[in-house]
Amino acid sequence: MLFGIIQGATFEDLRKQSAQAIVDLDFDGYAVGGVSVGEPEEEMVRAVESTEPFLPRDKPRYAMGLGTPPQLLEMIARGMDMFDCVLPTRLARNGTAFTSTGTLNLKNAEFALDKHPIEEGCECSTCREFTRGYIRHLIKAEEILGLRLITVHNLHFYLDLMRRARGAIENGSFEGFRKDFVSNYKTRDVDVTNSVGEAASFPPNKSGR
Ligand SMILES: [Zn+2]
Repeated sequence: MLFGIIQGATFEDLRKQSAQAIVDLDFDGYAVGGVSVGEPEEEMVRAVESTEPFLPRDKPRYAMGLGTPPQLLEMIARGMDMFDCVLPTRLARNGTAFTSTGTLNLKNAEFALDKHPIEEGCECSTCREFTRGYIRHLIKAEEILGLRLITVHNLHFYLDLMRRARGAIENGSFEGFRKDFVSNYKTRDVDVTNSVGEAASFPPNKSGR
């Protein structure tokens, strides 16, 4: 499928102009580009919000380069369907795992003797076989398997989050699902950085920038 990419930075009039010109060309789907490139999160959200009304409802919408787990749910709530993001793999290479209550840095000493999986109840192959303590040992020993195991978990986590979001949309419970997830998820600014290394959090947190 060929997608048209809408630009316009954080200027509402340019977003509108770009969206109308691109939609006139009748693509298979539409991407919102030029977001999550280092701008404050509230500007990113506004850029998506000012583009969305001009996108056809029967074509897929792709928010490029997003994001943290709460950001994905907030973007779905604003009409986005598709995403791509380096966070699950990049943070895994930094020893950081995603869970439904926020990220864990498995390099921390607190996990040295931890016999639990990264996330209790997770069905990924890492969580079924390996403990936090063992993964921490692998990272400390500079054994690449440690980063690979976290990568497998993080990708599973992201895909599972999207599966749960689709299920919630289908049974009409997405609003409750989004609110519960976002309120339970604690963003640790030290761990979760976007593509240019700036702290990212949701809801927008001015004090963190
Ligand atoms: Zn897992």
